Amino acid sequence: MANERNPPTAGVDPDVYRTLLESTRAIPWKIDWSTMRFAYIGPQIEALLGWAPASWVTVQDWAERIHPDDRDRVVQYCVAQSQAGVDHEADYRALTPAGDYVWIRDVVHVVRDAAGTVEALVGFMFDISERKRTEERLLGLQAELQDLSFKDALTGLANRRRFDEVVEREWAEAKSNAQPLSLVMMDIDFFKQYNDHYGHLQGDACLKQVADLLFGATQGGRNFLARFGGEEFALVLPETRAESARKIATRCRDAITRARIPHAASAIGECVTISLGVGTEVPRDERGLMSFIETVDRRLYLAKQQGRDRIVAEG
Ligand code: GH3
Ligand code: MG
Ligand code: MG
Repeated sequence: MANERNPPTAGVDPDVYRTLLESTRAIPWKIDWSTMRFAYIGPQIEALLGWAPASWVTVQDWAERIHPDDRDRVVQYCVAQSQAGVDHEADYRALTPAGDYVWIRDVVHVVRDAAGTVEALVGFMFDISERKRTEERLLGLQAELQDLSFKDALTGLANRRRFDEVVEREWAEAKSNAQPLSLVMMDIDFFKQYNDHYGHLQGDACLKQVADLLFGATQGGRNFLARFGGEEFALVLPETRAESARKIATRCRDAITRARIPHAASAIGECVTISLGVGTEVPRDERGLMSFIETVDRRLYLAKQQGRDRIVAEG
């Protein structure tokens, strides 16, 4: 294998190694184990972090240039791994003279002598700031996506999926604390006629306005308002007795009434109105939630039957 065109590595001029080491984007370094001092650090370090190679003298210089939030974790880990003679790597933020930080990945190899004693550490520092930026952007997007998947796009309220989750959680919570849980279901009256008369786009704007008004009327504690579907809203009221629930329902209806949103096609007046069903229960078993929701929904239906623009809390 070894010939003049393809020589054994043992024959390579040390200058070639040096050129290779100093032209790569990874920054090589070596620390003598006995003195804990840098025996070498690639000159590229200056372009990346701004500290001249000569300023890297002891392990202390390295530790002091690690972000305070990363320092203890990284130093303790690297010392322990090195003492155990195990190759390792660590990510951390390295300080620049300007006071900024650059994300670094340090990959460390433990060099031992023939007897197995640790002689030195050699390694490479990689600039991983771009990768970290991408990671952070992805985490941000993930959070945004999570948020979107639980949000109704038109009204900005929690969506049905989120409602299902919250009401189930609150039901279980109320059961274990033997506390009352109240639920209010609300539906805009004659909304099909509203759309027919004003058009779907204005229908959307009306829905948004109603959602905002309801939101404003219901905030506090763990109260939770969601768009249940179409022109229907659901309000979960943890630790709320029947009387308080009825008061909050009244506040909702009043908020809509006071807004006086014109509804020329309504059969019961000139403005947008809502009908509401209210229920309160101290949960006794896990499975009762469905029938509780059905009860409140039935009351909403009764409110419609009895003439709309009203609250039904019994029956
Ligand atoms: P009721 O008083 O009995 O509730 O009558 P209603 O007309 O409000 O009820 P119905 O269920 O007959 O009609 C609901 C309407 O709500 C029909 C549908 O087009 C409209 N709607 C549902 N979601 C949206 C939406 O996102 N935007 C708009 N503009 N309209 C919607
Ligand atoms: Mg309706
Ligand atoms: Mg409806």
